[in-house]
Amino acid sequence: MSKAHRGTGIRDQVKNGRGTCPVCKRTGIKVLYENEINGKKITICKECNKAIAHGKKQEALAAV
Ligand SMILES: [Zn+2]
Repeated sequence: MSKAHRGTGIRDQVKNGRGTCPVCKRTGIKVLYENEINGKKITICKECNKAIAHGKKQEALAAV
């Protein structure tokens, strides 16, 4: 079992897992974390994943 969010584990993903995070709008960031927001699944970056886990970014999520 490789690390799911690092190294060879993300080589097979499109652009090595990089893209635009729908929450913080940063581009070229690794969007590796699946989250279910308002009933739909989105992939977001690590920072946003953590922020959401701590109950932050709620206003940004409302717009997603
Ligand atoms: Zn983000």
